[in-house]
Amino acid sequence: PGRIDVGSETVVRLFRRHAAERPDAPQLHYYGATLDRAATDRLSDALAAGLERRGVGRGDRVAVALQNTPVCVLAVLAVWKLGAIVVPVNPMYKARELAHLLADSGARVLIVHPAARATVAALPSAGAPEHVLYSREGAFAGDLPGSWPQDEEDDILAILDQGGAPRSAAPAPDDAALLSYTSGTTGPAKGAINTHRNLAYQVAACSAWIGLGDGDSILTIAPLFHITGLAMHLALGLGAGLPLVLTHRFDAATTTALVERHRPTFTIGSITAFIALLNDPTARRRDLGSLSKILSGGAPVPAPTVQAFAEAFGTYIHNAYGLTESTSALVAVPLGTTAPVDRASGALAIGVPLPGVHVEIRDEEGRPLPAGEIGELATTGPQVAAGYWRNPEQTRASFPDGVLLTGDVGFMDEAGWIYLVDRKKDMIVAAGYKIWPREVEDVLYEHPAVREAAVIGVPDSYRGETVHAFVSLRPGTSATAEELRAFCRERLAVYKAPTGFQIKEDLPKSATGKILRRELRQRPHETGSPSGTPP
Ligand code: ATP
Repeated sequence: PGRIDVGSETVVRLFRRHAAERPDAPQLHYYGATLDRAATDRLSDALAAGLERRGVGRGDRVAVALQNTPVCVLAVLAVWKLGAIVVPVNPMYKARELAHLLADSGARVLIVHPAARATVAALPSAGAPEHVLYSREGAFAGDLPGSWPQDEEDDILAILDQGGAPRSAAPAPDDAALLSYTSGTTGPAKGAINTHRNLAYQVAACSAWIGLGDGDSILTIAPLFHITGLAMHLALGLGAGLPLVLTHRFDAATTTALVERHRPTFTIGSITAFIALLNDPTARRRDLGSLSKILSGGAPVPAPTVQAFAEAFGTYIHNAYGLTESTSALVAVPLGTTAPVDRASGALAIGVPLPGVHVEIRDEEGRPLPAGEIGELATTGPQVAAGYWRNPEQTRASFPDGVLLTGDVGFMDEAGWIYLVDRKKDMIVAAGYKIWPREVEDVLYEHPAVREAAVIGVPDSYRGETVHAFVSLRPGTSATAEELRAFCRERLAVYKAPTGFQIKEDLPKSATGKILRRELRQRPHETGSPSGTPP
């Protein structure tokens, strides 16, 4: 459907136009404080000027390690106004993780919370940034406590107070806007280069197909140090003139209180966040009715969870699929449409390509496959990143001829709906049988006691690998490993049913709420297959 031409637009230009048209419209809500567009423009100008005084110019990298706070939004906008590049960093990173990102990106400036002083002090001097600026998280919020930085020179609030405006010209559409480091299951984290055009495309495409306009506002439950938060909260809010309701960081109770207070209409987050809302007794008593446009992406969305959420809150969760390398969503379930469920596997469709995006299913040799056949998803379109930062080898491997090879395996049905089977690298081979963990997890999610499920292959001397399941249970329910095993055996071919089971209080997750199979793979397994010895 349709093409979207973003011409020479960038989020900076779009935002400036909105600010000139209606300067007093709210842009940021944060715990009782509101910044309008004019204040957002003025303060980000002041911060841009402060960065410029510290030597930041076009193409320079600035690392931003903050939670979802006003200063985070101002910092990203300020860096973009300079034509410089944001390196988003998880504020929970320790020195070792931070050091890799700083050295690889060559960031000149790092913006962090004062609580990170010890982490900053532990950074190796090689590759350390020239300047570290501190932002207390409670800045601008009446009701959040925060500690002040000790040194005026490094205090973001002092820089904002100084005022001023940057001298440099605005960025061009094909300039890099973000170096988004992916979590690196394939080696050390690599920085995907998301351009201003990528982001402007997401703003235009998402406003059009989600149907966002006057009266809409965005609840920021995805972290602003990850591509979904940056593209589908921050860039969308600034570029489409929509207020952002900042959550600081997601937790069910605070988030639902914010929804009642500010009545946001749209959000996108990981399914973990929606599962948390479902399981939070206070959330169930709150009125989440304003939030009528919900997308969930970044990890598999189980059909039973979507159904339970709709029953509890009256809102349907639309599946959305994307990667860091595709500047967040590239396929999604159109708003107001219910996704079909694949009868054979129970998987919920991830949707159809966004306007102007092309998706193809390819075989091992890169040839396009017909409807119904399983292969790797490959995509082209205006949201595909410009490659990996200073990494021509990985760029050639993942972006041959500008096509993004996603590493995800799936199929398209006759009607054009796309389904994911799994990630290429997560496939389990047991006694020669190929098993996709997703299919087994989908069956586990059908069990009424299962809150979360993750399935991995564990080495087995006889079969090569065997299927091992980890589950966490819903509060107030119980199930034994034997019950769960029997449940799977009734619904799956015997070779797919997990032989090992572990019931855990919680499953390890990434900062974006994705269950980390790779971390489960590294842990010793308590109950293995009867015929093999797990590591
Ligand atoms: P890595 O470094 O291994 O690429 P990552 O998981 O952090 O790790 P992201 O770019 O954040 O990388 O995530 C993209 C991946 O998330 C996709 O390749 C896909 O496997 C998965 N994913 C995204 N959306 C969905 C969805 N709706 N359903 C199932 N899986 C999804």
